[in-house]
Amino acid sequence: MTVGKLDKYQSMRDFATTPEPTGHVMSSASGRRRFLVQRHRASRLHYDLSLEVDGVLVSWAVPKGPNLDPKKRSLAMKVEDHPYAYGWFEGAIPSGYGKGDVIVWDDGWWEPDPAYPESADPAAAIAKGELKFVVHGKKLRGRFVIVRTAKVARTADQWLLIHKHDDHAVDGFDPEDHPVSVLSARTNDDVVAGRPGRWPAATKAELRELDKLAEKGRWTVDGQTTLLTNLDKVIMPGRDGQDPITKREIVRYYALIAPWLTPFLAGRPVNLNRFPDGITGTKGGFWHKAVPEHAPDLVRRWPNPSADNDKTREYLLVDGAPALVWAANFAGIEIHPWTSAAANPAQPSYALIDTLRHRSWARHDMGRNPVHRPLVPSGDGATPSRCPAEGDRTAGIQIWIPVRTGYTFHETSAFIEALSRTVGRVVPELVSWQWRKSDRKGKARLDYTQNQINKTLVAPYSIRPAPDAPVSVPLEWDELDDPTVRPDRWTIRDVMSWLAKIGDPFTALVGQGQDLPAL
Ligand code: MN
Repeated sequence: MTVGKLDKYQSMRDFATTPEPTGHVMSSASGRRRFLVQRHRASRLHYDLSLEVDGVLVSWAVPKGPNLDPKKRSLAMKVEDHPYAYGWFEGAIPSGYGKGDVIVWDDGWWEPDPAYPESADPAAAIAKGELKFVVHGKKLRGRFVIVRTAKVARTADQWLLIHKHDDHAVDGFDPEDHPVSVLSARTNDDVVAGRPGRWPAATKAELRELDKLAEKGRWTVDGQTTLLTNLDKVIMPGRDGQDPITKREIVRYYALIAPWLTPFLAGRPVNLNRFPDGITGTKGGFWHKAVPEHAPDLVRRWPNPSADNDKTREYLLVDGAPALVWAANFAGIEIHPWTSAAANPAQPSYALIDTLRHRSWARHDMGRNPVHRPLVPSGDGATPSRCPAEGDRTAGIQIWIPVRTGYTFHETSAFIEALSRTVGRVVPELVSWQWRKSDRKGKARLDYTQNQINKTLVAPYSIRPAPDAPVSVPLEWDELDDPTVRPDRWTIRDVMSWLAKIGDPFTALVGQGQDLPAL
């Protein structure tokens, strides 16, 4: 039975204060066992090596880190089993057990070494004290053995981790020479400072290679190669006599916007709105959540522990330029991330208000909208927030409020509902609760119902499926006073130069989780 496997893990932690996942017993839906190494600066620096076995991560703390040099034998102390969801955890543990900071140092999958039948049943092999296994990570590859060195009670948890002599062995390897997260390109110091991840955009040389490709071909971005197809297919028409937008141009945009977009996607399941036939094609658009069979390893996978059997079991995670390029080639034009992260799916990291469309985007509607007054940074108790325009001529604006670890969707939903109702009482001339647009008579509806697990809103910098490929962009509150602001003002053809000029107003929100103020 798997019940109780995580009892020890859960009893050692106070989930009211730690951002670590509570976790479930669960397995990779792909059938590949997860391999994971985290760099953990606790009272003593160590690397946590984890191997998925029977629905949990069996873990060892390795003080000097795993090594590719067969001459270096790494001491490994066996620790409590961790939940599968620990594989998406990066963060600062403010107090208690494990106090310190954690990055995902390596990630991939592993298998028992086929040359050793006695390792074919990993749980039995570990119980006996020796497992031979093959690792397919980003930093670590090849054949390892982990062996218990002592059976006396005092040192029963002491093991040695050794890399075998094979094609992946590296003399003089030092894990400390590779200090950056494979999940977010952050160091442990970046995590402590609350910095969002760092993701490179495609380089100029890489973009020239994309331009040179025929209708189909392989393209390498950030060291990862993706097969691109139908590059000259028209996905959406241009506006006002402009050239139509091809898939090549959409691939190019997502490869360039990756450093700005990925902070809002990293570690979150996403829903893709796909238009393989273009936005005017007969198929129209449709939602895609599941990882397709043919997806390459650069697309990360998240088995949803709460999914019903008939629902999507394994979701897409789209982190960084290579995964965005893959999604764009998959005709995933519009990207909607969850408001919670895969590590803690029941805990929202943003509270959202979706203001459904006003009669127009005219100044008298937007600039005087008082929704923002309790939300604008203004000294003590302020609530930072931003309002991205949705990039769709028919859309309203969304207000994103980053919240600290520990809230439930019930709490964020109740807060946003109370706030919305209050605004409705203060300015009844601007707010209507009618669902039908025609019944609202030009007023806005404040939609608080998005604050639920698996409800999504379009990501900042996602393309919207409309002529000219308009883009959802963040606004400062006072920009709403600008009479020329329209939801489709920025497109994939001008948003990069706008970003270069003003910097990114939205990135300041990432990692700025806060208490929701009393109303
Ligand atoms: Mn640890």
